[in-house]
Amino acid sequence: MVTKKILDILSTVTDPEIPVLSVIDLGIIRDVMVNDDTITILVSPTYSGCPAMDMISMNIKLALITAGFHNVQIQKVLSPAWTTDWMTEAGKQKLKGYGIAPPVGKSFDKMYLEELEVACPQCHSTNTTVISEFGSTSCKALFKCNDCKEPFDYFKCH
Ligand SMILES: [Zn+2]
Repeated sequence: MVTKKILDILSTVTDPEIPVLSVIDLGIIRDVMVNDDTITILVSPTYSGCPAMDMISMNIKLALITAGFHNVQIQKVLSPAWTTDWMTEAGKQKLKGYGIAPPVGKSFDKMYLEELEVACPQCHSTNTTVISEFGSTSCKALFKCNDCKEPFDYFKCH
């Protein structure tokens, strides 16, 4: 099962910005196609213009080449666009463990950040406030917990 082996390798390729999340956790792998000795990986970029994307593509290629697959092609799939709904449940748990609040709700809810009940990844209190729409990267917002007083990043629904 070549595809299974490739998926196993992909689960070791992580997001350079959030090293606890693999590309599988992120849900950005759309398809894996094996044609003789050529492997094509279809990848949906996360946030458009996210500079991490080129690095992710390169890391996928590197991981597969290291594992002995030499003919690797990465194809970007722009439509349908990636949404945080595709992030796996395991991925959301890993995010929380990393100190980043995972996306709340579904992408189609279109709620304002102020309306969200975002739980603090440290003490799990939902008594939290938005400080800034943009956190350490544009994919995240900065929140503050009113109970433990710790600021934290929230991975925005998208
Ligand atoms: Zn807290």
